[in-house]
Amino acid sequence: MKKIGILTSGGDAPGMNAAVRAVALRAFDEGLEVYGINYGFAGLVAGDIFPLTREVLSDKISRGGTFLYSARYPEFAQVEGQLKGIEQLKKFGIEALVVVGGDGSYHGALRLTEHGYNAVGLPGTIDNDVPYTDFTIGFDTALTTAVDAIDKIRDTATSHQRVFVVEVMGRGAGDLALWAGVAAGAEAIVVPEEDYDIDAIAKQLETYREAGHDNAVIVIAEGVMSAQEFKAELDKHGDFDSRATTIGHVQRGGSPTARDRVLASKMGNYAVELLLAGKGGLAVGIENNQITEHAMEDLFDEKHHADLSLYDMNNKFNQKD
Ligand code: ATP
Repeated sequence: MKKIGILTSGGDAPGMNAAVRAVALRAFDEGLEVYGINYGFAGLVAGDIFPLTREVLSDKISRGGTFLYSARYPEFAQVEGQLKGIEQLKKFGIEALVVVGGDGSYHGALRLTEHGYNAVGLPGTIDNDVPYTDFTIGFDTALTTAVDAIDKIRDTATSHQRVFVVEVMGRGAGDLALWAGVAAGAEAIVVPEEDYDIDAIAKQLETYREAGHDNAVIVIAEGVMSAQEFKAELDKHGDFDSRATTIGHVQRGGSPTARDRVLASKMGNYAVELLLAGKGGLAVGIENNQITEHAMEDLFDEKHHADLSLYDMNNKFNQKD
């Protein structure tokens, strides 16, 4: 193997650049040439491909987003799209690939592997919703941003004795809400993985108020409902002088945390080792602080499990006095 390619696909996530850099630097060390593929599978099909150099990579580890750009390209689910991509791989002499993205991107990577071009996947998403990995690249940065925002909101909640409902991202997963909620000392966390009892939450807030604890933050995952909708429900159960805030896309951006950079570096390094061993169709993860790999097919059959011990713990922290 002499040449490999790398692309980023699906939603962008902080740390994707660090992953691309790690793949390329490790591959250079093995004497490989590395091609960057712009715009995910769309750029592959269009032949938007260029050689990566140390110079190109030199200022990338600290940058958010993805300098290889990302795109949605549903046509890659069709064989015609895949064959066009393979034409380009042949043209550039690329023999294997690393794909950084979510579950959809892994499907594309698996198709390429089935066509004889080994592809390894790295989990790049702020949602942390990928099975067989405790953490995805970008989650820690999004979490840090969310907690910083909630801390600021808490200042106003305290000053004005208000209840703030704060919506964090995560799509169908509650991970960001769970981690941000615990880290910001939320009085309640609402996630898609658990039923919520609005009556109990309202009663809890009343109890707090009677005890002189007159502000609160409720962190809600976007996968449940919007902050505005939850606030409207809460208002039917009492007068809390409540406010709703959606943190929004700032969670997707920004310079990756040190932890995300290190995770991306370890995963990128390992992806090259797998390709050198002639392996493809594998998704890299981190489990119990060990870098691991699993067949992509196994991921498609498995659901991601959020750490609900955080939910139980937070509820215990907020038991009625
Ligand atoms: P995110 O979790 O951020 O949405 P994702 O990788 O799951 O990331 P998708 O939009 O689902 O995002 O997929 C990204 C790209 O992967 C698609 O635009 C398409 O090019 C490719 N892809 C998705 N599903 C398939 C499939 N079944 N077969 C081949 N390629 C696919």
